[in-house]
Formats: sequence, C-alpha cells, structure tokens
Amino acid sequence: MERIPYWNISYGLLIDLLSIPAMAVFGYGIYRHWKRIRQGKASVRQGITLDALKLGPVYVWSFLTRGIVGTRIYKKPFTGIAHGLLFWGMVVLTVGTVLVFANVLFGIPVFTGEFNRRFMGGALDAAGVAALAGVLFLLIRRLSPPERLTCFKANSGFILIEIGIIAIIITGFFIEGARIAQNGIDPGSFVGNWLGFMLPTGEGGLELHRYLWWLHGLLVLSLIAYIPFSPLAHLVLAPANAGLDTPIPGPKMGVIDFEAFEGEGEEAPSLGVSKLADFSRKNLLDISTCLKCGRCHEVCPAAQTGKHLSPKGVMVTLAEYLQEGKMHDDSLLETISTDAIYSCTTCAACMEACPVSVNQPNAILGMRQHLLMERSEMPDIMGQAHRSLEARQHPFIGTGFGPNDWRKGLEVPIYERGATEYLLWIGCSVAYEERTQHIGRAMVAILKKAGVSFGILEENRCTGDPAKQMGNEFLFSEIAGRNIEEFNELGVTKVITMCPHCFNSFTRHYPLLGAKFEVIPHAVLIRSLIEAGKITLANSGRSICYHDPCYLGRHNNVLSEPRSVVSSIGHLVEMPRHGSESFCCGAGGGNYWTEEEGTRINQTRAKEALDTGAKTIATSCPFCMLMLTDGLKKFTEEQMVQDIAELVCSQMEG
Ligand code: SF4
Ligand code: SF4
Repeated sequence: MERIPYWNISYGLLIDLLSIPAMAVFGYGIYRHWKRIRQGKASVRQGITLDALKLGPVYVWSFLTRGIVGTRIYKKPFTGIAHGLLFWGMVVLTVGTVLVFANVLFGIPVFTGEFNRRFMGGALDAAGVAALAGVLFLLIRRLSPPERLTCFKANSGFILIEIGIIAIIITGFFIEGARIAQNGIDPGSFVGNWLGFMLPTGEGGLELHRYLWWLHGLLVLSLIAYIPFSPLAHLVLAPANAGLDTPIPGPKMGVIDFEAFEGEGEEAPSLGVSKLADFSRKNLLDISTCLKCGRCHEVCPAAQTGKHLSPKGVMVTLAEYLQEGKMHDDSLLETISTDAIYSCTTCAACMEACPVSVNQPNAILGMRQHLLMERSEMPDIMGQAHRSLEARQHPFIGTGFGPNDWRKGLEVPIYERGATEYLLWIGCSVAYEERTQHIGRAMVAILKKAGVSFGILEENRCTGDPAKQMGNEFLFSEIAGRNIEEFNELGVTKVITMCPHCFNSFTRHYPLLGAKFEVIPHAVLIRSLIEAGKITLANSGRSICYHDPCYLGRHNNVLSEPRSVVSSIGHLVEMPRHGSESFCCGAGGGNYWTEEEGTRINQTRAKEALDTGAKTIATSCPFCMLMLTDGLKKFTEEQMVQDIAELVCSQMEG
C-alpha cells in the first residue's frame, strides 16, 4: 500500500507548529554566541565583506571545503569516517524529513513510485544505518578517550548529544518497523522490513507506533533547540569560522598601522592583546568554535616536548574567560604565562590539524605583541637577540662575522638598476653563521653556472622578520619600510630568497606595507633551472631525507619543488611527518634564540631524520640547517645536514 504521511497520528501538525518555538530557541542560542563574539574588535579587511557583521572577508572556498565538507576531519581516518557517516547520514535524513513536511503542507508526492522505494525507503534507511554507525563509534571513543581529548579539558557535552542522536535514529527505525508490521512490506525499507517482522500487530502495534512517533518528533525538536547551547554549535560556528579564514595557510598576522594611532590628543591604544576585549571578532569566533578535540595539542612541537605551551590549553583558557564574560580581566596573560606565549614556534602545525579552522598562533602572537611592545617582557636570550636586531640590524648575538664576510674571496655581482634581473637576497641567517654561509656561496655558484642575471645588495641586511615573530611589530615595520624604500630606489622587481622566513615576510607582510616585487624561493628557482637544462646534475643515488621547513612547506605550500631537486641528486626518503604535516625544527617564532625546557625540539626532529637510515638530511632553510645540525650532535659526529643548494652545487656537471 502507498504510504500515507502522518498515518495513525492524530494532530500530527502539532509537530510542525512546535518546530517554530524550537527554531526560535535555536536562533536565540546562535544570537547568544554572536553577542559574545561581537565584543571583539571588528576586523574587516579587503575582500567581500559581510558589512553588517564586520567580522572579516568571506572566503567561499574555505567555507565549502573546510566548513561544509570538513576536509581536515579526515586527516584522522577512523574519526574522520565516523564524522562523515554521521554528518552526511544526518543530512540525508534531514532532507527526507523536509520532504515529508513538503508532502503534508504542499502535497508534493514523495511516497510514490521509484522515488519512494529508492529514496524514502532505501536511501533513508542506509543513511540511518551510516549515521548510527558513526555516532556509536564517536560515543565509544568519547567513553574511552585518547589523551588529546582529555588533556586540559574534555568536551563532555558531546555524550548527551550522541545519546540523543542514537535515540532519534533508533526511534525512527522502530516507527518505520511498527508501520510496516501493520501495513505490510515497504519496498526499499530494508531496516524497517526487518524490524516489521518482529514488532506486534493489532491495537498494541498501533499504540507503539503512535508513542514512538511523538517521542521521535519531540526528541528531534529538543535536539534542534539544544544545538547552540551544546558542543554541536560547531555545526554553525565551524562553517562560519572556515568561511572567514583565508585559504592561505599560516597565522596571517597582518601589519599594525602605527600611523592610525598618531591622531593628535588621542590616547594611544594598547598594542597587542592583554585581555579578551583586545582580540578581534574572528579570534573570539575561533575561541567559541574550538571543540577541545586536542588535535592541535598532538602535533604542537612545544606541547610534545614538554614546554609550557599547548594550543589546546590556550584555547581552553580563552574559552573559559569568554564563557565567564571576563572581557576586561587582565589576568589573562598571567594565566596563560609568558613562557607559553614565547614557546610558540609559529610553525602552524596546530592550524593545519584543527578541524574547525581555528587560528591558534594568531591569538598567541597577539599576546606576544603585547608582552614585547607594552611590557618589554621576553625570555633572556631572545631579548639579547632582539636588542642586537635593534642596534646592529641582525639578531645573531655573538657572531664574529660582518654583513659581507660570507662572500670573502668570491666574485659576486652587485645589483644594478635596469641591468640585473634578480636580486639575490642574502638576509641575516645566511650571513652570520659559518655553516650557513656555505648556502650563499653555493647559490652564487649555481646562478653563475646557469647564467642567471643576478646581483646582491652592497650591504647585506635582515628583513626584520625575527622582530615580527618575537612580537615587535614596530621594529619590523621600520626595517621593512627601509628595505622597501631601497628596493624601490634600485628598481628591484624579482628577488631570490634562501631563507623561507625572508620569503614569507616578503610575500605576506611586505605587500601590506606597499612592496611590489616578485619573490622566488631558491628551491623553486633551482628546480626550474634543472628543468630548463641550465644546470645538469650527476645523481649520486645516495639516500637523502628531506626536512620540510614550516615556512616553506606548511606556510607557503612549496612541497614538491625541493623534493624534485633532491630526487635529481639522490634517492628521496621521507620521514613519518613530512609535507604539510612536517614537524618544526624548533627555531621559528624567534625560538632559535632560546633556552629550551624539556626535550629539545631539534633533537626530536634530528632523531626522526636519522631513523630513516638516510645518508644525508636535506633542508631548504638556513635556520632548519642550524637546528638540525645541532640536534644531530646528540646522536652522531657525522655532518649529515646540507641545504639543497649545497647538494646541487656538489653534483653539478660540466
Ligand atoms: S604554531 Fe606550532 S608551536 Fe605554535 S602553538 Fe601551533 S603547533 Fe604549537
Ligand atoms: S583549536 Fe582546533 S584542534 Fe585545537 S582543540 Fe580546538 S578544535 Fe581541536
């Protein structure tokens, strides 16, 4: 027999009417989130903006991929599949429910023919089974959780939700079974038909059907109303957060417009973040969206080597302050601690792992800016490096080298306006350490061999990036401004970098200060020179393990080019953590100049590289080279670390 909507139910339309207050409570819950979030600073940048919300530009691609499809959830295959089954199963079930409403209210015939058999019967049953399997997996995992879920704080609210969803799915199946027990087999409803054989017929069966129907309907409406007050609020917050998060990886700190603070008679606002009210609305949305899942904790090099920092811990503290309305409580930085704030290497592994697009380093760096610019508080050695940067324009404390010593005895052309194509940017990290000077020398040899038109600045200097990473935005702007001015005077349009931090700064931060030049990392240029046949290499066949620098790989997606270069010289070997899931060397965020507590990050990474059995460890960052070279000393006397420029130089033919 053809199915009749609301069969055996009197006053069924009551459910439709009750959905109005349920949706109203849902709307009020979302409004409560928005009320909290709007206490932050409006941060509208260029792009398509939701002017009324003043949150930030909207990025459709991130919204669709990370927000709706949830691409990052699948990085953990089991929980990813469980989430996928539950989410997409519920989506299909919701579509089915809406169609039933459409049938009742507008007479759209959904219970006829093939559509009834295939979709309203088969597909909905399959969706229910999928959702049930997913939610059962998640509930079991919640009851025996891994450490990442419980450290700092667990999101216990999920248990009630998961039990509620299980009850909804099971009552749904039993309603179908009770109906089939009375009316006979429904083609396509494989679960309903199976249950129908076991359920009673007659008046008892009819009564069971009625009770289950009302219980199911009320459970669904209660769940809808409860969503914004529960961790399930991420169904709304996560897509919003992904849509407001640029698809470009990395913390994206922007630059501070100091001129805007110079209005006459105005009191200068405090720099950086010392209390919740100093955060942007996007930061507060991040904090509201965090699920306390601990995926960030698990990949954070600081958290995993015993430092005071855990990105999850920071988010949990911020969420507690937000929940308690402590917008102006300036105990925040003391609660999180200076040690934790400076332990962040800005590696962005946490961002990459976060399933709901939280930007943890952005929040941490905001607090770091306040500590440095307002309180001059920072760890001792980092403080010395910072003072060196202010006084001598580079942070390499204790170096005996001058800015141009790296090229002693070498003929290196100086950049000439209108005559030279590329500026070879040396930066501070290649210039002031004996080991890294070899990278500069190797690069000069490669460019000469390939016949590239290049030149260097007469006086080598720093990009200012270490100042930015340490939190001194003011010093960074000053140094960057000077560099941009000189580049403009020289007519520089193309720059080659050997340090990913320089590359990142030139491409992400300098354009915000008015810079207009192209930048190419040496790994990318070398690859193109090999491909163009400008240099030919002898492949030694030896095994080479490649360490991805965070600022080249994860921050800028330069992953395949250095690998291609390594494969031209030897046999590429991968570490377990590589590519965008690489593990930091420990130097980023100014942590090159620090006394580490706990296990040293560089030793952890060096051991991982050594364990691959490779003969050589290749890098394409001077900081990674220094850190890994130092880390390896604990395990071997051998000098195994080389930059890809050095490797290429040693294998050049002809
Ligand atoms: S950026 Fe890196 S070091 Fe900083 S919190 Fe995230 S994972 Fe940890
Ligand atoms: S910040 Fe993201 S990864 Fe970290 S606990 Fe929160 S939701 Fe999970």
